Amino acid sequence: MIPKNLVAIGNSGNIIRVLSAYGTKRAEEIGEDKVYDFTIGSPSVEPPAIVYETMHRLFETVPARKLHTYSNAPGLESARASFAAYLTKTFAHEYRSGDIYITHGASSALAILSKALLMPGDEAVILAPYYPEYGVYINDVGGKTVVADCTPGDFQIDMQAIDAAVNEKTSFVIINSPNNPSGVVFTAENIAALSALLEKKQQEYGHPIYVIADEPYRELVYGDIEVPFIPNYYKNTVYVYSFSKSLSLPGERMGFIALAPELDDYDDVHAAVFGAARVLGNICASTMFQMICAECIGHTADISVYNENRDILYAGLKDCGFECVKPDGAFYIFVKSPIADAYEFCKFCMEQDVLVVPGDDFGCKGYVRLAYCVPKSRIEGALPAFRKIAEHYGL
Ligand code: PLP
Repeated sequence: MIPKNLVAIGNSGNIIRVLSAYGTKRAEEIGEDKVYDFTIGSPSVEPPAIVYETMHRLFETVPARKLHTYSNAPGLESARASFAAYLTKTFAHEYRSGDIYITHGASSALAILSKALLMPGDEAVILAPYYPEYGVYINDVGGKTVVADCTPGDFQIDMQAIDAAVNEKTSFVIINSPNNPSGVVFTAENIAALSALLEKKQQEYGHPIYVIADEPYRELVYGDIEVPFIPNYYKNTVYVYSFSKSLSLPGERMGFIALAPELDDYDDVHAAVFGAARVLGNICASTMFQMICAECIGHTADISVYNENRDILYAGLKDCGFECVKPDGAFYIFVKSPIADAYEFCKFCMEQDVLVVPGDDFGCKGYVRLAYCVPKSRIEGALPAFRKIAEHYGL
């Protein structure tokens, strides 16, 4: 028998991919320079040179048999040790190689953790606006997704909303900062307040409430913004990292889970993560890319490109009269739709060959997301179109 829920998920097109596919088709029809596609969060900057230098050296020095072989299920000991050492050194928080499970990107890490930390009927809190795939992983294992809205206006964490969302059935809360889609970085005060609230809730309910810190955009921050390292604030934090954005390697599917040694019920969490990964078939990420990432962790693609894009796009949109929070990180800007129906607004933008994604799919009606990991020329070319759109809505 074919599970109907999976048929439904398989048939429900991801709006970002649908719009992006439309953008590609439209570009073929009228030319790439005439389509202002801001739909997909795929890095536009080349991976840093060290990735290719390492790759070439590995090709020359490591026998093919060893480069393309299976690793251990959680990854090569050398790669796990490298990631643990990097976290320990960078954030002054001890991790050991055994605390690391190497995954096929953050997506796979989140699917593993949803399976490892939820029993049917348990609840998981996500913050709106949110990355839409969270609900897919949580619901698939019989968990219930509970949404806590961020504070309108600045999109920081709203403690009242968290207070209302967390209850005795809550197993974990996912925190994503820098945030997709808002571009907001949660402040240290905000994270400290969240930690205090969750500590209180854990005491009250007598079981751990984990935080999953989903941080594929950690290094993509602009100006002198600091991204608080949540495990240093809240002990029951499971850390998720990805090399997709920092090293511009989204297609290589590399990421990892880091379990802080001081986690409550560490042994069970550790075993459940290994078990969930096994059940989901997330074993042995690419051996060659484990070796590459082990050497390249801490390096980044040229982030200044996104910073410049952000400045041009933010200033241009504000100048046209659009409302948006200035993003401090990631490569997204979340813009208030001039009309309540963001789908309708996206449709009108589409008619001007400007492709943006409705916020409804991120749990936030009345907004649209623009991904500015695009060539600068696309942003500059789009500004007259944005002005025309703003004028149409009387901004
Ligand atoms: N989490 C967030 C917030 C994301 O935006 C993404 C991708 O865009 C992911 C997780 C998944 O990243 P990946 O599987 O490429 O590592």
